[in-house]
Amino acid sequence: MNKILVIGGGYGGLRAIESLQNYADIAIVLVDQNPYHYLQTEAYGYIAGQFDVHDVAIDLQSWCEGFLNVTFKQMKITSVDLEAKIVSSEDESIAFDYAILAVGARTNFFSFIEGLRENSYGVKFLNRAFNFRKEFEELLYHKLNTKVGENPQKYNIAIGGAGLSGVEVAAEMAYVLNNYAKTIGVRAKDITIYLIDASATILPGTSSFIIKNTHKRLEKLGVKILTNAFISKVDAKKIFFKEGEALEYCFMIFTGGIKASPLTEAIKCEKNRINQLIVDKTLNISGDKNVFAIGDCVEMRDELGAILPPTAQMAERSAEYAARAIKSRIEQKEPEPFKANIMGIFVALGGKYAVGEVFTFIKVQGYSAYLLKKAITYGYYKGLKLRINTGFKNRIGNKILSV
Ligand SMILES: Cc1cc2nc3c(=O)[nH]c(=O)nc-3n(C[C@H](O)[C@H](O)[C@H](O)COP(=O)(O)OP(=O)(O)OC[C@H]3O[C@@H](n4cnc5c(N)ncnc54)[C@H](O)[C@@H]3O)c2cc1C
Repeated sequence: MNKILVIGGGYGGLRAIESLQNYADIAIVLVDQNPYHYLQTEAYGYIAGQFDVHDVAIDLQSWCEGFLNVTFKQMKITSVDLEAKIVSSEDESIAFDYAILAVGARTNFFSFIEGLRENSYGVKFLNRAFNFRKEFEELLYHKLNTKVGENPQKYNIAIGGAGLSGVEVAAEMAYVLNNYAKTIGVRAKDITIYLIDASATILPGTSSFIIKNTHKRLEKLGVKILTNAFISKVDAKKIFFKEGEALEYCFMIFTGGIKASPLTEAIKCEKNRINQLIVDKTLNISGDKNVFAIGDCVEMRDELGAILPPTAQMAERSAEYAARAIKSRIEQKEPEPFKANIMGIFVALGGKYAVGEVFTFIKVQGYSAYLLKKAITYGYYKGLKLRINTGFKNRIGNKILSV
């Protein structure tokens, strides 16, 4: 029996387990520092109050119980001994035959921007998104209570980073504010969303179709877009730029960069400047044929050697590959190299509106794009729920048997 350890219950880790489960003679252990799987891709709706916590988090223990050969352990891994094939937390160690590192990434609050970490929120962790959601709710509540006739105060919400996550959060909040303007009155109109990026464009690295249509939608929602705007300092009240006037803000979210999970610092192998692991053609680190790394904690490159953006999609593709590669290695066969390619992109742009592209030639926008994106996320969430239901039935069944 081979023991396979999956570290990280994010998009990559869960997909790896789904792909591994049917192989014979294996026992899988999933380890995560949190008891839940966080659906980061839905964070934009959670922050803006459109989704609830049960829409963006599921219990890992219940999910694992949906399999016959998977156990879950809540542990924060602090070291990985590649030679001894052991991982450890502060108080426990686990040995493995094969390991998949799927520990993801966190927000990179750049240290060269003074005050950024102290004065802004990230969305890569549920607790951070939760705090930001509370701030947003409180602001709306405060606005709702503005006395009739009183001069309304103006507020700016700043989003640093106009990549996929920043754009989605900005659009959803602006959409909510527009809707509130209809129900709680014009006071919500005194809140302006600023989307700030140092690049010359929003969504750098995506196609002109995606950029142009996203821009149009954001402007229609009233989002103020500041490109070529390099943030140099943030204090409790203002955002300062390398050039131009400072922007007063009430709260700020930063989505401008990531760095790999701190665990990668404890692993002796090659890394890039944001601590992502450098893998070989079969996604192994340090040439170790039993240890695979997938998802956001890895520097992913396409067939031409270009670095790919970290996405759930890529985490899942690399997870499926790692599962197949483990099966090949167990059968003493050498796996084919991993081919990383982006199949498509969908950007949620507030309410029932999205922009998307599949295989670069199918281009959709508006309600149809929203429906396609929704179908993908619904399919994903439904799959998680079905597994939990199976786990529940397994548990009840075991109880009846043991009576
Ligand atoms: C707002 C937002 C919108 C996004 N939208 C999209 C989108 O539309 N499409 C898309 O493809 N991608 C999107 N992404 C990106 C996507 O969420 C990430 O690329 C994806 O989560 C990466 O998956 P992963 O499995 O590598 O890591 P994660 O999903 O981050 O999972 C890593 C797991 O490892 C655990 N972990 C970390 N360190 C340790 C440790 N030391 N010990 C134990 N456990 C540990 C963490 O708790 C976590 O559960 C979005 C991201 C955000 C923030």
